[in-house]
Amino acid sequence: MKFDYDVIIIGSGPAGFSCAMQSTKFDKKVLIVEASVHTLGGSWISKGTVPSKALRAAAKLIQSFNSQFGDEKGRRPYERFRMEDIMEYKKPILESKNKQVKDDIIKNEVETARGWGKIIDANTVEVTNNLNHKKTYTTKNILISTGSSPSVPKNFDIDHTKILDYTSILELTHIPRRLVIIGSGVITIEFATIFSALGTRVVILSDLPGILPFLDGEIKQYLISIIKTRNIQVFNDTTVTKIATNDLRTCEEVYFKTQSDPRMQVVETDHILYVGGKKPNTNGIGLETVGIKTNTEGFINVDNSYRTAVPNIYAAGDVIGQPSLASVSFLQGRLTSSHMFGNSSADNMMVDRDIPYGIYSIPEISGIGLTEEMAQELGINVSVGRAYFDNLTRADLNHDTEGILKLVFRTDNLQLLGVHIMGEHASDLVHLGQSVMAHNGTIKYFIERVLNYPTYGEAYKIAAFNGLNRVHKSGVKYKNVLERGNQING
Ligand SMILES: Cc1cc2nc3c(=O)[nH]c(=O)nc-3n(C[C@H](O)[C@H](O)[C@H](O)COP(=O)(O)OP(=O)(O)OC[C@H]3O[C@@H](n4cnc5c(N)ncnc54)[C@H](O)[C@@H]3O)c2cc1C
Repeated sequence: MKFDYDVIIIGSGPAGFSCAMQSTKFDKKVLIVEASVHTLGGSWISKGTVPSKALRAAAKLIQSFNSQFGDEKGRRPYERFRMEDIMEYKKPILESKNKQVKDDIIKNEVETARGWGKIIDANTVEVTNNLNHKKTYTTKNILISTGSSPSVPKNFDIDHTKILDYTSILELTHIPRRLVIIGSGVITIEFATIFSALGTRVVILSDLPGILPFLDGEIKQYLISIIKTRNIQVFNDTTVTKIATNDLRTCEEVYFKTQSDPRMQVVETDHILYVGGKKPNTNGIGLETVGIKTNTEGFINVDNSYRTAVPNIYAAGDVIGQPSLASVSFLQGRLTSSHMFGNSSADNMMVDRDIPYGIYSIPEISGIGLTEEMAQELGINVSVGRAYFDNLTRADLNHDTEGILKLVFRTDNLQLLGVHIMGEHASDLVHLGQSVMAHNGTIKYFIERVLNYPTYGEAYKIAAFNGLNRVHKSGVKYKNVLERGNQING
């Protein structure tokens, strides 16, 4: 049977975009269906990754400017800068990323159809445009990459004016004086530190015993100590019972209880940001018609090849659930295309092994592999090596001395098992450790190679020496410490 396309991709975010690019490399005919009339690239460019990182970059710049050059009148950043200034910073970045995606799509001869994509049967997709005109296309394969949306709270409504979610906060037209964030994960910490850099007084109401439970304990303690010096107050184990407007005091009131104190507490604020997780964009796309299965939270079930219950329909990106990252979605989309068109290069590639995490807070946090606590739980005898950013010449030069890089390695053979970093460029720096780990390398790599100087990468060298010293101090002769590393590579 002849079809209009080899693959129709519903959603142009990282998963859909990268599947399209890869499929054209296999000389396949591709159609991307995108619901947004104006943008391509999904929430990666329009509502999530790029806009939030542009906001961060502007806030960091303002914070650095404010702390470097002071202000004789003692004004806060929000009194010197306005959201319009930040928008001016963000706008050209978003425009250029949008153009880049559009250019790539045109250059690679991928066709696009603007409108709502719905699966009619295993080989047909219907597209309804914003004038309600419907058109159907036939295809050999389908990729569902419709992404996710913010989940909604149970006991109050998001009005997108005073009570915001993680997408509507990016549309704020002013820098708030006060902000309450209900949440405990990565997006919470990113927005908390970004707005605090702009002078906003931030209160975090976390429903967990702490923030970012997956972090290395030492990095978390360091983060908590930094947060304390900023305008950020954290309440753990909270339950928010009500949000009300106080017209007299022209503010919003957030009522909450903590597990340790059952009395009702109230915090006054200008805005509330609710960060309660993600829900998949699966409504109205025809899953039931073809019998595609989802898990209890509604995310689409797929096998190792990203295939759904229907053999020629695949799903990738946020719509299949965790880890819900643009970085991961890019690789998933590419792998999906390889599986779809029988390219064996994908057979041995895994997305779920040793993914680095990047938290774009101020300062940045990133890591990969085992934390010290995880290694101990697994009964692996590890040592650690640390480098503090205030010992790095490059960090001194840039006045970015807040930070630490920590290496976790096997004591017996010095094999690198984990890298955990807080400080500027952490999410870039982590990749050097990732490469060494991917090749089963040892921490000797960092002391035996010449690394550019001055760089933030010097932290690896300092941390490696620090780690070797620790093994030496535990009673092993230094010469023997160095010989340990040969057991893996030799
Ligand atoms: C505030 C924030 C910050 C983030 N920061 C980072 C970060 O720093 N690093 C990182 O790796 N990730 C980050 N992410 C996550 C990242 O944005 C997502 O993981 C990624 O965009 C998911 O890609 P996707 O392809 O699955 O879907 P999306 O990017 O969500 O794209 C889905 C697309 O499908 C379209 N669509 C939906 N339904 C239909 C339909 N029926 N028909 C046609 N089109 C449809 C939508 O319009 C959208 O364009 C962040 C997310 C947020 C919200």
